[in-house]
Amino acid sequence: MSEIIVIGGGAAGMMAAIAASERGHHVVLLEKNEKLGKKLFITGKGRCNVTNAADMETLFAHVCTNVKFLYSAFYGFDNRAVMELVEQAGCPLKVERGERVFPISDHSSDVIAALTRILKKNGVEVRLQTEVKELLREETQETDGAKSYVQWHIRGVRLVDGHSFSADAVIVCTGGLSYASTGSTGDGLKFAEETGHRVTECRPSLVPMETAQDWCRELMGLSLKNVELRMVCGGKEYYREQGEMLFTHFGVSGPLALTASCYLGNTQKKANKGKANQAGQTESVYLYIDLKPALSEEQLDKRILRDFDEQKNKQFKNALGGLFPAKLIPVMVRLSGIDGDKKVNEITKEERKSFVQLIKNLPLTVTGTRPFAEAIITQGGVSVKDINPSTMESKRVKGLYFAGEVLDLDAHTGGFNLQIAWSTGHLAGESV
Ligand SMILES: Cc1cc2nc3c(=O)[nH]c(=O)nc-3n(C[C@H](O)[C@H](O)[C@H](O)COP(=O)(O)OP(=O)(O)OC[C@H]3O[C@@H](n4cnc5c(N)ncnc54)[C@H](O)[C@@H]3O)c2cc1C
Repeated sequence: MSEIIVIGGGAAGMMAAIAASERGHHVVLLEKNEKLGKKLFITGKGRCNVTNAADMETLFAHVCTNVKFLYSAFYGFDNRAVMELVEQAGCPLKVERGERVFPISDHSSDVIAALTRILKKNGVEVRLQTEVKELLREETQETDGAKSYVQWHIRGVRLVDGHSFSADAVIVCTGGLSYASTGSTGDGLKFAEETGHRVTECRPSLVPMETAQDWCRELMGLSLKNVELRMVCGGKEYYREQGEMLFTHFGVSGPLALTASCYLGNTQKKANKGKANQAGQTESVYLYIDLKPALSEEQLDKRILRDFDEQKNKQFKNALGGLFPAKLIPVMVRLSGIDGDKKVNEITKEERKSFVQLIKNLPLTVTGTRPFAEAIITQGGVSVKDINPSTMESKRVKGLYFAGEVLDLDAHTGGFNLQIAWSTGHLAGESV
């Protein structure tokens, strides 16, 4: 029986502790908060979208960063395994639209309670209000045939109060940087750097985006259903999806905008590759909203002609009720450059054509994202290049493992991020 320390009592940490204890190890779970699963509690608007019930191909398709790294973790402990574990622990689940899995009770606290019951049953020693300050490691001289080399081994952890715990293996499950109020303050990223691991640039993701156009503020609160959002930079398209989005006082939010934000970092990186040192040469990222994705430009033009025909003597600004929600009309009139007081039968073919273009490509310039405090996940983290994908063990320090959002892994909304935490946590726990 080995002595295992898991740092962080979130989704990944609880799952790692469960898997390690099931292999007969003595596991100590250290959590700095006064309770386990503080972030889990607020997931899915308090209902906890535990995972996604789709097939494996779909799970992989929804991972944004380092999908190949997840093959062993996902196949080893998939969405079915998570659902079985949670249900067997007394929390029945249901599958909703988009294959999203929730507890039948709609209470995230029931998922936390179920996991807590397993921890207790398995004899995991949970220590709350226990904050780890640093990892303890030791260097040894090893030989491989004629070759001699230095190998680091994990020895334990030191807490902020000065106490130390020794261990044969340590699993770091401290989360990312988003919603720091839940305890994810990036401690694991610091531990990783201090022990010689690479950490990729971290940015807020699944996060609302800020835009240059101030007309968004005018549309604040307006939600658009069945629209298409495209992300374009340097003339190249990086994202295109249909769904629902929302205007806010700073720009755009809602499901489409949140998902698009996952592609922002990569878009900027790819579009500006090789331009880093040429001041002022960075490409802007644009969003284009297609307000009528079901209609081709031709079909839309015909539809507008028909609308105008039926309302010949109406002013342009009063003839758009069939096309847009009321709040959007003054903005569309202004952006079209057509005089709102003009009678529709006086609108020229060119004016109509450029209006069609505007409806199909309503442009926004992205100026940034909202901060980590508003981001569902952190993009970036401990580089997967320094982690063995078959075990989650560090390639630099023996006996040290990483799992969950602390790693450079992220996915779309829909239960996929928690699946990453469950799968990587489980793999780390069963590998120690
Ligand atoms: C508002 C919101 C809603 C979300 N909804 C969903 C959803 O419905 N479905 C989904 O799949 N994903 C959702 N996510 C994402 C999901 O919650 C995370 O991806 C997931 O919780 C990551 O799990 P983790 O265990 O890696 O990290 P965390 O859940 O962040 O857990 C890390 C834990 O480590 C502890 N810790 C940190 N440093 C130390 C230290 N030095 N010593 C001791 N303990 C420490 C923290 O206190 C924390 O409890 C949501 C995220 C947010 C913010």
